[in-house]
Amino acid sequence: MNPLTSQRRQRALGLALGGLAASGALLGAALVLQNLRDQGPLLLPSPRQRAPEPPAQAVWVSPLKRQCHSADSTLRQRLLALQRGLPQRTERLRIDPSNYADRQTRDAYGTRLDTTPSLVVLHETVYGLGSAINTFTTHHPNDSDQVSYHLLLGEHGRVVETLDSSKRAYGAGYSAFQGRWVITNPSMAGSVNNFALHLSLETPLDGEDNDAGHSGYSTIQYDHLALVLAEWMRRYRIPFDAITTHRHVDLGLERADPRSFDWSALQRRLAALGALC
Ligand SMILES: [Zn+2]
Repeated sequence: MNPLTSQRRQRALGLALGGLAASGALLGAALVLQNLRDQGPLLLPSPRQRAPEPPAQAVWVSPLKRQCHSADSTLRQRLLALQRGLPQRTERLRIDPSNYADRQTRDAYGTRLDTTPSLVVLHETVYGLGSAINTFTTHHPNDSDQVSYHLLLGEHGRVVETLDSSKRAYGAGYSAFQGRWVITNPSMAGSVNNFALHLSLETPLDGEDNDAGHSGYSTIQYDHLALVLAEWMRRYRIPFDAITTHRHVDLGLERADPRSFDWSALQRRLAALGALC
């Protein structure tokens, strides 16, 4: 990171942590005001009541397609070389316990839950990696400030595991996927967090705003993304059409991330890794 970049990031960090509540910015608020803004209607269950269903939502049509052959051996070789060094290069961060929880084995109504991750939600950081890390490592006593993802992928190649996959990250508030959510707190509406893995791409500098798009993500980010997704798909048997976006799962219709995401770049890489067959 050059000095100018660093300076901009610092300024952005100040904006992210200090100015969001006042600005009411949509994307800018993504990290900080998640639970407060997406809390949804108050639910008051009786002890034997079944969990209510999520409201109707658009059907997820995955931009990824099944593909059993890839002619791109150069891409495959590059990805496999990158994969070999990935465990050593992955930074493992200890974030503040206020920003995550265990995956619940029963919902607020006593129904048993499968704690194996079965969904991947893609995000973008809006501000730099340092801003996200600072937020996750800060103690947040108020529910409305608590937020985390499992993994961050930096614009220049940093891979930061912020939370173990076995834990429940607070990556989405009021949310559902294909008619499924989990209500873990009877005073709040449901969320995908209990069965989701949350991964966030560092936003380029020209995306530190609420515009509809930006210049997009770097080659190394798509390379790392494909490697991480292929591993999660293999380990947890997650189908490719269960890789989705925060924009899609958000029932509050306020999230737009990840903006300017190139699904064809991901398709090429996952196919080269044999992960789409
Ligand atoms: Zn998001």
